Amino acid sequence: MTIESVCVYCGSSNHVDAVYKDAAATIGAALAHNKIHLVYGGGHVGLMGIIADSVLAAGGQVTGIIPEHIRAHEMQHTGLTELIVVDDMHTRKSLMAEKADAFIVLPGGFGTLDEAFEILTWKQLGLHTKPVVFFDVAGFWQPAFQLIQHLVDKQFAMPDNLLIFKPVTTIETMLEALNTPATFSCNPEEKWGR
Ligand code: AMP
Repeated sequence: MTIESVCVYCGSSNHVDAVYKDAAATIGAALAHNKIHLVYGGGHVGLMGIIADSVLAAGGQVTGIIPEHIRAHEMQHTGLTELIVVDDMHTRKSLMAEKADAFIVLPGGFGTLDEAFEILTWKQLGLHTKPVVFFDVAGFWQPAFQLIQHLVDKQFAMPDNLLIFKPVTTIETMLEALNTPATFSCNPEEKWGR
């Protein structure tokens, strides 16, 4: 399997440590070099802007999908290959998911968590089978992994849910995970059966 596009979820804050900004730039360049089209939220701020700029600078293609109310604040990226303006956040999230063959979650805040857990929930329900990769920059996602293990330990999530995403720390393992068909398959009976 070779993916052609990836949706990246990441933070919009400009006030973050350089280690996260550098990772976003490196990952963007790697996507372009591997001819993987970036689909993202269309902003020019934070890691979002950095990854879009780095894909474009390395000769890659970027589609941004932005709701009118965010664009109205003039926070859209103006140099993208394609900018799609939608009515609301829900339309944006479903279009981003539709247009991507896989997903990368980079460090981020509330918006990133919302997007990441929504795409994991859709996968849990069998609505898609696309790879989801958490790029664990400098241990950023360790608390989230601990929380997910806690959900499993307390049986609010099934052990198989630990296979629903792949944690990675290098570009090589990221590319491998993006191109590996998901091993997780939805088994509602396991969770909801008596
Ligand atoms: P956060 O992780 O809270 O920084 O949120 C990242 C998310 O914030 C994005 O995916 C968008 O939903 C939203 N967002 C914030 N600023 C922008 C922007 N300038 N352009 C597009 N989306 C933005």
